[in-house]
Amino acid sequence: MDKVLDVKNLHISFTTYGGEVKAVRGVTFHLNKGETLAIVGESGCGKSVTSSSIMGLIPSPPGKIVNGSIMYKGKDLTKATDKEMRKIRGVDISMIFQDPMTALNPTLTVGTQLVEGLKHHKTLSNNEARKQAIAMMHLVGIPNPEERMKQYPHQFSGGMRQRIVIAIALICEPELLIADEPTTALDVTIQAQILDLFGRIQEQLGVSIILITHDLGVVAKIADRIAVMYAGKIIETGTKREIFYHAQHPYTKGLLHSVPRLDLKEAKLIPIDGTPPDLFSPPIGCPFTARCPYAMEVCDKVYPTHSKISDSHHVECWLQDDRAKLVAGSTVTSK
Ligand code: SF4
Ligand code: MG
Repeated sequence: MDKVLDVKNLHISFTTYGGEVKAVRGVTFHLNKGETLAIVGESGCGKSVTSSSIMGLIPSPPGKIVNGSIMYKGKDLTKATDKEMRKIRGVDISMIFQDPMTALNPTLTVGTQLVEGLKHHKTLSNNEARKQAIAMMHLVGIPNPEERMKQYPHQFSGGMRQRIVIAIALICEPELLIADEPTTALDVTIQAQILDLFGRIQEQLGVSIILITHDLGVVAKIADRIAVMYAGKIIETGTKREIFYHAQHPYTKGLLHSVPRLDLKEAKLIPIDGTPPDLFSPPIGCPFTARCPYAMEVCDKVYPTHSKISDSHHVECWLQDDRAKLVAGSTVTSK
């Protein structure tokens, strides 16, 4: 399968008055052409920082990519200049944020914002740009696009505004779309419509999607593969089926038990006790040790080895490694 994006051993830190926050600690993943990869985890796990780094949007200082690579079309984006990133943003890689109101300019009509986005990157006549803007509004499900082009963001409902944000993100037909909590600010019924829209645009435009979310309901609906993040690391990856039905990492299992499931009416919701570790001085061993019901002696001493359950299913937990039972750290070398 063609890879659109290949991220390897990414480390990102932020310098603060309190010290250095190690927000992303050696993250590796890839995105195949035309697929939706969901990056899932609690707030503060590093998922938004990871996605912002792909867009070249880590503010530096205080942020810094300390190590690793983000390969896109043979180019390492961690080494791209601001000028190169400006060319890539919007045209090759686009991003949608959580709150549609802050993503839109309240003083410009929706039509102007779409046409400007397009003309900023492509040489087109006004007429041609307008035509493409109308077609895109139509594609994202805005009725009467010719008329609604003339309206301002406040004249649209929340769901319609998010459709406009999606239209702006897609207007140059990017290869990769990053959506950071795209439905969190919306009502449940509108959420479902926006998720359907993601499926439709993927079918029609062939765009590859990275979906950042804490909401496993959203993931169940549109993801092909899932990467679960915890304390700046990806602790489990797999296809949607592998994660939902054969999760191996205790944290992933905990996440799955802490959300309501329509298919399991009797299942009790079990919150995960405790909080994630402090990323000023992250633990050297498994960051889930303090909250994990299965923690062993080795767990807080050495970071777990990387285990391959299948070609697509990978997990970082000592329960998958027989050597954990034999030693308590010293003779096990972790990667
Ligand atoms: Fe639990 Fe140990 Fe696995 Fe971490 S490595 S999730 S503490 S069993
Ligand atoms: Mg976030």
